[in-house]
Amino acid sequence: MSVMKWMNPDVAQVKPYEPGRPIEEVAREQGLDPATICKLASNENPLGPSRRARQAIRRAADEAHLYPDGYAYDLRKKLADQHRVAPEQIIFGNGSNEILEFLGHCFLGPGRSLVVSEYAFVVYRMVARMFGSPVTEVKTLRHAHRLDAMARAVGKDTSMVVVCNPNNPTGTMAGETAVRRFLDRVPEDVLVVFDEAYAEVCLGRMPDTLGLVRAGRPNVIVLRTFSKAYGLAGLRIGYGIGPAPVIQALERARQPFNVNRIGQIAATAALDDAAFITRSRRLFRKGRALFEKTCGELGFEFVRTYANFMLIKVGDGAGVTKELTRRGIIVRPMGGYALPEYIRISFGTEAENARCAAALKEILA
Ligand SMILES: *Cc1c(COP(=O)(O)O)cnc(C)c1O
Repeated sequence: MSVMKWMNPDVAQVKPYEPGRPIEEVAREQGLDPATICKLASNENPLGPSRRARQAIRRAADEAHLYPDGYAYDLRKKLADQHRVAPEQIIFGNGSNEILEFLGHCFLGPGRSLVVSEYAFVVYRMVARMFGSPVTEVKTLRHAHRLDAMARAVGKDTSMVVVCNPNNPTGTMAGETAVRRFLDRVPEDVLVVFDEAYAEVCLGRMPDTLGLVRAGRPNVIVLRTFSKAYGLAGLRIGYGIGPAPVIQALERARQPFNVNRIGQIAATAALDDAAFITRSRRLFRKGRALFEKTCGELGFEFVRTYANFMLIKVGDGAGVTKELTRRGIIVRPMGGYALPEYIRISFGTEAENARCAAALKEILA
């Protein structure tokens, strides 16, 4: 007999998330200097944190012995002003991934099902499984969400639909018209979660989902993060904006000090650096142009992206990933997303992008 007989069977079924490989691990394995490795695997900002955020982090080090403000007053106030919502309409998570877990605690479970799209961020399915919720997965069209079909997939027991926009890992985006039509078709007693982790890096025009929350839509929550555009993935800060009653419910699932002190201070400072976001977006646009050109030269199909990464059909995704790894370039193979012919490349600095493009040409030659 073992303690494992008590293991929660729903949690036991969860397949662990496979993150992009850390630089240190690849350096050890390949016998390379970590400083020479470029990681284009986790959609991080290659510019690092903004200068203002770095300065704030240095100052915050002296206060690391103090618990954080569980209410995150300063950050909350600033975000509420910026997004023109009430402070009570915001919840913070240790990364927006933690908010997905709060959503699971509150709105999933046996008898409550989740609707998601094929090729959407895998964490949604992981959370549903963990809480024992059935999942309906709706087929995509040319790798893009079919919001009309997702609305039709909503059944009597559907409690929640998650729309990742722009979507990771495909980079596709649903526009304003599609989103509005979709919301008109989804009943008001089904929670619609827009995961907008890439909103600030978005290379197109995002639908105004926050405007819908502001206008009082009772069933819409928008998730954002400081991990991507703001370059603070290591500090783990995400947030959700939604109707006050939904936010209040989620607050019950939140531990008192889930969002760390240094992260709160850095994120608050990062919000003052709009120029940094503009600069980042300009860099991502160049990255997209370079990889589109490279795909053209190599005869690779790719999915037109609106985010800071690109899905490329290289043939043998695992094989090409391995060859790139040998050259000190970390990308993401897509076998786990049932796209074994593809890799996902995050846009890096111009030098990193050029190095990756050259390596792809060399491997395919
Ligand atoms: C990166 C990412 C997140 C969240 O990241 P956190 O670091 O937990 O804030 C959420 N959703 C998608 C689609 C992502 O790509």
